[in-house]
Amino acid sequence: LIQLYIPLNFMGMLYREIKQALIDIDDMFSILARHPEVSDRPGAKPLAVGEGTVRFEDVRFSYVPEREILKGISFEVPAGRTVAIVGPSGAGKSTISRLLFRFYEPSGGRILIDGQDIAAVQQASLREKIGMVPQDTVLFNDTIGYNIRYGRWEADEDEVAEAARLAQIDTFIRSLPEGYDTPVGERGLKLSGGEKQRVAIARTILKGPPILVLDEATSALDSFTEKEIQDALDRVSRGRTTLVIAHRLSTVVGADEIIVLDKGVIAERGTHDGLLAAGGLYAAMWNRQREADEAREKLKRAAEEE
Ligand code: ADP
Ligand code: MG
Repeated sequence: LIQLYIPLNFMGMLYREIKQALIDIDDMFSILARHPEVSDRPGAKPLAVGEGTVRFEDVRFSYVPEREILKGISFEVPAGRTVAIVGPSGAGKSTISRLLFRFYEPSGGRILIDGQDIAAVQQASLREKIGMVPQDTVLFNDTIGYNIRYGRWEADEDEVAEAARLAQIDTFIRSLPEGYDTPVGERGLKLSGGEKQRVAIARTILKGPPILVLDEATSALDSFTEKEIQDALDRVSRGRTTLVIAHRLSTVVGADEIIVLDKGVIAERGTHDGLLAAGGLYAAMWNRQREADEAREKLKRAAEEE
């Protein structure tokens, strides 16, 4: 029986290995299919980032010809500053982040980083300089340490731990029986949305890019997690040019400029105080969110009193 067991066990191992590889390949294809590779122009030069100023100049974009998603968007994120983009679902917010990462090319206008049109630079050099924290982080079927080190392979253990500390995920990791060697993902430990996002933040801290794009998760996180993530994001964005697709009020309040996007155009722009005073779309969104937060708090308190 043992003789039969060994090959079966071996085949099981092999099967798992292959399946693992297939999961990764599957992810890769779905990513490529969603983002057909935009290729380098002949003679493209590497992007040279100095201060890291990001500029959108009258940017237009359509996924399909019949429907224009961005209808002439212009804004600047000055070096080291934070600009927040808010607006209703479907307004085109995430599309802006995809264009900056050059998953797609604008159909009109230009996107510049330190004066260089990103369409004319080497793709790899562009992506090296931008850290993306997407709204849904997909983790690799590997250890939690691997998932952080992915930000910079040469990083040593201390650097990984430091990044995890700044992202406020180190205490959690150290509480796991296998610590940084704990497998995560499909067949490992399931992490919550907030934990996954903090892994992505740690990864980005380790990468240390001059430009950051944060696409916040829409789902309501509990307020403790929300504050922890906000602190982690504040740390990582300090001194870096940051474009944040914001859903949380706490992110928006501190931004140097808030852009309100609606149906592919900039409906309003300004600081938090200025936009509140203007009493337009932003003020309405703000009040609605405040009411929802208060209602949630009331429900929670009522539940606690029972
Ligand atoms: P937001 O982030 O503001 O919610 P998005 O930028 O994701 O909005 O999307 C803007 C619009 O573009 C939406 O109407 C969405 O359905 C459409 N869209 C997004 N991705 C694609 C795609 N790959 N192909 C076609 N339409 C898309
Ligand atoms: Mg979005």
